[in-house]
Amino acid sequence: MTPRLRLQPEAVGMGMTSQRVRDRLVERLRESGIADERVLNAIRTLPRHLFVDEALATRAYEDTALPIGHSQTISQPWVVARMTEVLLETSPKKVLEIGTGSGYQAAVLAMLGLEVHTVERIGDLLRQARKRLRQLGMNVRSKHDDGRIGWAEHGPYDAIIVTAAAPALVPVLVEQLAVGGQLVAPVGGSGSQSLVRLLKRPDGSVEETTLAPVVFVPLLSGTLD
Ligand code: SAH
Repeated sequence: MTPRLRLQPEAVGMGMTSQRVRDRLVERLRESGIADERVLNAIRTLPRHLFVDEALATRAYEDTALPIGHSQTISQPWVVARMTEVLLETSPKKVLEIGTGSGYQAAVLAMLGLEVHTVERIGDLLRQARKRLRQLGMNVRSKHDDGRIGWAEHGPYDAIIVTAAAPALVPVLVEQLAVGGQLVAPVGGSGSQSLVRLLKRPDGSVEETTLAPVVFVPLLSGTLD
């Protein structure tokens, strides 16, 4: 079921954060190859400016990553759209996200009616993300932990999306993937990475595909308050 958004008064009709500006971003994403109308609709509906600091709100509908504190970023809308579009291809129900950050990617997935579980290692970012998601009336389960161990309790997952880059796919996460499931993650060192898709076939074997060049912050170990 698609949750009904409880929009704050400041989410509507405010100059650079207005619906028209959001529509323009959606058109731009469409021109850059995003074709799934469900994804475009979620991005059109979600107030991305509520996921960044007020001082950056006017830039929230540019197709760019933006700082969210603690040297982390909210991902570029095109990257969020592309990863979501890829995930939807296998019609998942239960999804695990590693790297909650601002909570925006989790909100996009929840808007599409998916059961979302998300893990973030920085407590302060997670608290802010939880508050935003709550204010928007979105039901997302979250945990403060090092996501490199996944979240076994609720697994296996139909899909896993990793939103921070590691030099290689994390084996534990592949283990928590259901048969027929799909993992999407940026793989590579700092600076530039490739978006990689891994499909777990019914016989347990895996198929890996490289999708696009991307830039993500690194997947780090341990947790911070
Ligand atoms: N999906 C986020 C993108 C955030 S950037 C959004 O939509 O805003 C990546 C996030 O991954 C950061 O918040 C970072 O703290 C987090 N991260 C990095 N390594 C992690 C790990 N091992 N476990 C959980 N989160 C991690």
